[in-house]
Amino acid sequence: VVAELRAGIVATGSELVAGRIADANGPWLAQRLGELGVEVPYLLSVSDRRDELAAALTFLADAPVGLIVVSGGLGPTADDLTAEVVAAFAGAELVLDEAMESTIAEILASYAARMDLSAEALRVANRKQAMVPRGALALQPVGTAPGLVVRRAGGPLVVVLPGPPRELQAMWPAALAAPEMASLLAGVRPFGAVSLRFFSLPESEITATLTELGERLDLSPLEITTCQRRSELEVDIRFRPGAEAVSEALVDGVIDRHRKQLVSTDGTTTDEQVAALLTGRRIGLGESCTGGLVTARLTDRPGSSDYVAGGVVAYSNDAKVSLLGVPAELIERHGAVSPEVARAMADGARKRFDADIGCSVTGVAGPGGGTPDKPVGYVCFCVTTADGGVLAREVHLRGSRAEVRERSVDVAMHLIRRAASRTTPS
Ligand code: ATP
Repeated sequence: VVAELRAGIVATGSELVAGRIADANGPWLAQRLGELGVEVPYLLSVSDRRDELAAALTFLADAPVGLIVVSGGLGPTADDLTAEVVAAFAGAELVLDEAMESTIAEILASYAARMDLSAEALRVANRKQAMVPRGALALQPVGTAPGLVVRRAGGPLVVVLPGPPRELQAMWPAALAAPEMASLLAGVRPFGAVSLRFFSLPESEITATLTELGERLDLSPLEITTCQRRSELEVDIRFRPGAEAVSEALVDGVIDRHRKQLVSTDGTTTDEQVAALLTGRRIGLGESCTGGLVTARLTDRPGSSDYVAGGVVAYSNDAKVSLLGVPAELIERHGAVSPEVARAMADGARKRFDADIGCSVTGVAGPGGGTPDKPVGYVCFCVTTADGGVLAREVHLRGSRAEVRERSVDVAMHLIRRAASRTTPS
C-alpha cells in the first residue's frame, strides 16, 4: 500500500525568530523528507518559550500531520524546554533514563576538564538531559543531548533533534531507523519529479503557459513550483505515483512553447552543460566589461584546466588592440562597445590561445558612460569557433553595475553552451 504522509517541522530558537541567524535545520529537514516522499506543508520557527512551542505542536496535530520534527532546545540550560513541552504534548511524564544518564556522564567526563563547571552543576545538567518522556525512544547523543522519538496517542509521531545543525544532521539516520519512524515511512513512496531549466525566460511567461495548459489538462495531481535563480528559471514538477501521464503532457506542452529557452530537462545547470560540452576542446576568452568574470565562472569548476586555455582582460582600447589584435580603426569606426569589436575580440582570443572557441564580452556596465545610442546595460557578445561558426548577441541589461556584469556572465555562459552544442569537437 502506498501511504501518504504529511509532516510539520518546528525549528525552535529565539535567535531564529529574532532574525539573528537563518534557520539551517528546517530547510534541510524539509529536503530530506521531500526526498523520501513526505509532504511538508508546514515549516515553523518558534521562540524558546514553553507556550509557543506547545501552540505549534497543537496547531500541527490539528492540521493534521502524521509526523512532527522539532529541532533545538534539548540542551542543559533553563531555556531548553523541548523535552518537557513534547512530554506534555504526548501526555507522558518525564522520567529519568538511567542508561542515558550514564551515557551522558561518560560524554561529559571528557569535557569536564575543559569546562569550568562545578561537579554539582554538571550532575544537574546531566540529569536534565537524561529526562525523557515515558515510553519515548531516546536517540544516542551526537553532542551531549539525546534525540527523542515520542508518540502522542492517536496523534502524530514527534521526533526531536538537537539544534546545532551538525548534530541534527548526524542524528538523522538514527531517527529514520527508529522503529516507529521506520514503520511510519514504510509505505511512503518517493515523489515523481521533473525539473526543467530555462534561460532568459520571464516567470510571467511560464505562468501564462501554465494557465493555458491548465485549461486543457487537469493539473491538480501535480505540484508545480517555479523559481528564478539568477537568469535561469527552474520549473519543478512533483507528483504522486499515478500522475505520470499528466506530468508528461505538461512537460511536453511547456517545452513546446519555450523550446528556444530550454536549458535542460534533468535539472542540470548551464555551467554543468558547458563543462560537458567543452570537454575535448579549448576555449579562449577576451573580456572587457566583465573584467574576467566569465573566465572566473568557467574556472570555478574543478577540471576546467582541460578546456579553459585562458582569458585576456582587455579593458582599455590599447589592450584590445595589443593583446587581442583588434584593429584600432575598427574601434574608431564602431566604438569599443560594438558587435564588430566583439567579433574581433572573440576571434583574437581564439587565435591568441590557439583555441577551438573564442568568446568575448564588451559593454557599458555603468553607472556612467552611457550614450543615447549605447546606454548603460548595452552589452555585445560574440562566440566564434575554429570551423567558422559565429554566434553574436547585443543585449540591453537592466540593473546596477554589478547586476549588468553578473547578467553578462550568464549571457556569455549561455552563448558558449549554444555555440558548443552546435559544433562537435575536432
Ligand atoms: P545544545 O545542547 O547545544 O544546547 P540544543 O538542542 O539545545 O543544543 P539549541 O540550544 O536550540 O540546541 O541551539 C544550539 C545552537 O545551535 C544555537 O545557538 C544555534 O547556533 C544553533 N542552532 C539551533 N537551531 C538552529 C537552526 N534551526 N538553524 C541554525 N542553527 C541553529
